[in-house]
Amino acid sequence: MLEAELQITGRVQGIGFRPFIFRKAVKDGLTGYIINLGDAGVEVVVEGRRGSIEAFIRDVRGDAPPVSEIEGLHIVYRPYRSRFEEFRIDRSRDRGRVASGIFPPDIGICDDCIRDMEDPNSRWFEYPFTACAWCGPRFTASRSLPYDRERTHMDAFPMCRYCEAEYRDPMDRRFDAQGITCPLCGPRMALYDASGSEIRVEDVFEAAAELLRLGHVVAIKGIGGVHLAALATDDGVVRELRRRKNRPYQPFALMSPNLEAVRSFALPEADEEAILTSWHKPIVLLKKRHNAILSDLIAPGLDRVGVMLPYTGIQLMLFKRLSAPALIMTSGNRPGLPMAITNEAARRDLQGIADYFLLHNREIVNRCDDSVLRMIRGHRAFIRRSRGYVPEPIKVPLKTGLSLAVGAELRNAAALTLNGKCFLTQYLGDITNLEALDFEKDAFAELKNLLNITRNPDVIGCDLHPGYMTSHLAAEISQEADIPLVRSQHHHAHIVAIAAENEIPPDEPIIGIALDGAGYGVDGAIWGGEVIKSTYSNFERFGHIEYLPMPGGDLCTYYPLRMLVSALTKAVGDDEIRDITKNHIKNGLPHGDKERELILKQSRDERTLRTSSSGRFLDSIAALTGLCYHRHYEGEPAMRVEAAATNGDPLRIGIPPEIELDNGIYLLKTSDILYKLVKMANSVNISDITAFGQQYLASGMAEIALKACVENGIGTVALSGGVFLNGYITTELIDILSRQGLRVLYPDLVPPGDGGSAVGQSLIALAHVM
Ligand SMILES: [Zn+2]
Ligand SMILES: [Zn+2]
Repeated sequence: MLEAELQITGRVQGIGFRPFIFRKAVKDGLTGYIINLGDAGVEVVVEGRRGSIEAFIRDVRGDAPPVSEIEGLHIVYRPYRSRFEEFRIDRSRDRGRVASGIFPPDIGICDDCIRDMEDPNSRWFEYPFTACAWCGPRFTASRSLPYDRERTHMDAFPMCRYCEAEYRDPMDRRFDAQGITCPLCGPRMALYDASGSEIRVEDVFEAAAELLRLGHVVAIKGIGGVHLAALATDDGVVRELRRRKNRPYQPFALMSPNLEAVRSFALPEADEEAILTSWHKPIVLLKKRHNAILSDLIAPGLDRVGVMLPYTGIQLMLFKRLSAPALIMTSGNRPGLPMAITNEAARRDLQGIADYFLLHNREIVNRCDDSVLRMIRGHRAFIRRSRGYVPEPIKVPLKTGLSLAVGAELRNAAALTLNGKCFLTQYLGDITNLEALDFEKDAFAELKNLLNITRNPDVIGCDLHPGYMTSHLAAEISQEADIPLVRSQHHHAHIVAIAAENEIPPDEPIIGIALDGAGYGVDGAIWGGEVIKSTYSNFERFGHIEYLPMPGGDLCTYYPLRMLVSALTKAVGDDEIRDITKNHIKNGLPHGDKERELILKQSRDERTLRTSSSGRFLDSIAALTGLCYHRHYEGEPAMRVEAAATNGDPLRIGIPPEIELDNGIYLLKTSDILYKLVKMANSVNISDITAFGQQYLASGMAEIALKACVENGIGTVALSGGVFLNGYITTELIDILSRQGLRVLYPDLVPPGDGGSAVGQSLIALAHVM
């Protein structure tokens, strides 16, 4: 006989781990206890026969609940002391010390709960809020820790005696399930028309399905917010939804009932299917199948479409009644504002957009948009890291201090680093108005609350850009609470974020390739195609894309032809530019020739803002191929370029990168190559031009990074910035650099775009003060 003490860390709280341990201990005939340690771990003490304890430990390792993840399992054996008469879950001694605890994200409905919903003899037959100890809302449901029903949105729904009995029975799957609820005691769905009157029908899902079939737009309240649902197969419906949302081109996300349905319109790879069906249930960008049943207006001009599978009983019920291969399932918000989470906000914000409202009477505590990602070489490239991932921390190598970082501006998220863990908030959207800024403040306060953090941060991080609302917010907090503020250069932050997720030591220099649309540079120019040598606290610029004028500033991001004309002024004279761009002017510049003349003049003016942005280079490719003359959403020109490059061969153009050394800085020249491409645009396939343009950028930056590695004796290159959502450029760079024997770090946990910049900011800030 023996006693064994197990300290288990990882994702082991709030996901049914204690009852799992209980059932295994009872099965193996062991006595003892389990308690939550509060700081993300559990302690288990068992006593009994050696063979039984060994069997128990095997079970703990091999048979843990699907969502759990055991990071550490430390076992201490002691002599048998006959201390316990039974095995119990010890709640009374749960330690309150929860600083930097790991709180689970929302978990998609599990297979057992789905079976309950399908079983006519089950209490949960067709009940849309079915959940158990292993699945259901967590982050969006919880006000504070510890995770107990009275601190969640279920506090408004006292358990009936049937639920109570299961909740108390350790052998039941719903033992200790804070979200347990049933048709007798739980929340309910109701259907409303646009005027807010309830439509009384026996089966709201049947009614909603019928409304969707008829082509109506139905707002549906789910777990993290309200979606707008509509048919994905009918051009008229999609066009009408685009008109109402004032969103002419930006792709809509889809939801499909199952993988089989997904395969009818998309071509998911094995790793994409695995992540689609995982409990995180993100939206995954998949290759479109040609001639599929989908409306072409879902993702116009793109070769990929975003798809997710149902993650709540609400969505399962809808598809059960509807039997469609896919529905549009897009966030229910007014343009630029956060998604609605209350019934009132849904009615107010979606007036004129939704025809009907399928709502419920359960509160959404924390707003959380669907996560969006694409798989690139086995890594997750997050476009949005939100539901299903937040608030799980990213392990980082700075173990002391508390820092807060506010992020940048677009597709933002804030971050908080504490005890070697960086917690990124949910997706906050574009912080360009006060509503969005309030959301950021709330999200940060809620995160502090969930982590039980009561003290002020030691340091605050923000972007170097003086105009970002987030930078002002950081300065305000810094001043009010007298906390040091560290402003980090945008691309340095991108690179440090990737270094951190790979646990590169803070003082180890690496080479970073940061490619994106825009970031404020230390020289006042707009950077975005950078090779830097970086540690956490410092960086040196080693090379960049040649500076080009940005006539009209931000206007260039909306009208890609502006950048092309500007680039050409570095290569040839005005008359030739007029001649070679004449076919583009009508569609590319709203004010035609007059506007072109102004652009020429401004481009030749020394005072015009300059940029080294790789996004603007890809914009120019989009303009010269006629793929995109007017950008409707962030990243559109670059996404169209990537889509058009399928089957293209860069070798048919095959011009090597032109690199210059200027005052000790390497420059990748882009103006001459754009000139050559404009001239050949009529005689070469668009697929070859777009493939070549991306390949030119990748090979040019790789060549500069290689020089940086050789000159500095460095063997690691990190890739980050929004351009690394582009699969073509990312895989090219990985291939070129790895062929040279370099270690290539590219994003997996941290979003490559600005949604990940707060991670870098928070670590740069910590590195400065700790
Ligand atoms: Zn379940
Ligand atoms: Zn009940």
